Amino acid sequence: MARPSSSTNARCESCDAPKNLDVIGQPIKGVYTGAWSNICRRCRHTAQKRMWTSFSAWEDLLRANLTYLDGHIDVSPNYDVPISPETTRLLPGLKRLHEYGLLSTNSQPGDQGLAFKAETGCIQWKQRPYYDFLVPTVHESVDVAKVNRLVDALMKHEDIVTTAWSDSDEYPKSKEGDVNEAREVAPTFHATAQNEAGEGTDKTYYFRSNASPRVHWVSSYRKANSSKELRDTEWTNQTRSGPTNVDEIPRGSSTCGNGPEWERFPGVMNARPLAVQVAAREWTTKLDLQEVVERTCQRVGLGKMFKSVLKRELMVDVPDTTSVSQLDE
Ligand SMILES: [Zn+2]
Repeated sequence: MARPSSSTNARCESCDAPKNLDVIGQPIKGVYTGAWSNICRRCRHTAQKRMWTSFSAWEDLLRANLTYLDGHIDVSPNYDVPISPETTRLLPGLKRLHEYGLLSTNSQPGDQGLAFKAETGCIQWKQRPYYDFLVPTVHESVDVAKVNRLVDALMKHEDIVTTAWSDSDEYPKSKEGDVNEAREVAPTFHATAQNEAGEGTDKTYYFRSNASPRVHWVSSYRKANSSKELRDTEWTNQTRSGPTNVDEIPRGSSTCGNGPEWERFPGVMNARPLAVQVAAREWTTKLDLQEVVERTCQRVGLGKMFKSVLKRELMVDVPDTTSVSQLDE
């Protein structure tokens, strides 16, 4: 298990860069004091990708993701920075859903607010809660039919919009002008020896979505000189959710990140997970999406199959600086 580093040097032991830089070389606030503190965040990012690549079991990916959510690592293969402060209040639900085998890849809570500053005027903002996760379909503890029922049930939930697709399969491009109609698209399987076992049922591996086919915005703001003016000001959309049609599915990459050579992680390919994205249908701060998904898991019979496994510690050595250096070459 991770050994605490005695090093508090200001320079990375691997690449000699200042340790206060992020993955793109910009200064970061605060100091990371976790077990990998002998190296800089960019080297930790490379080491994380390498570690995720070394895992073949879904359990290890879940544990690795939990170490990131717990803050023991300040960067993940999928995310170049620590979790944002607003995510903190989602943590109990996000972590509990790992016990069901759900690996979270992105999320935000609902929020609304209004602020006035002399220099900027009135700013009003709103965001919908959303929650993106991967759920395995090929695993000895997982019944693929129940995973299929989970997606079906989420699609029918009236408070949310849901998009799901296979993270390990590829999809044909939609026909021109067909994006709006293509709410269900069969994948062109690239079956491997491991994932052939997960043939699924019905439309398990289909791209499926009931979100607006063009775009689904999850944060928006508007700005004016006074609160009176603000009421007549149009909202400006700011952040959108993930893919809402088959053409937008990232090709050749996984939603939980990729390895150092941009390869998919073997642990992901072996489990042939579905990528599922749920978001509130309305601009609301009230909806607890983790609770919605957990209740739906229970309703379709997906239990805490990974609970005991996750009690064990992540069995991985802190990458020493030599191996990180080799990887960088
Ligand atoms: Zn470094």
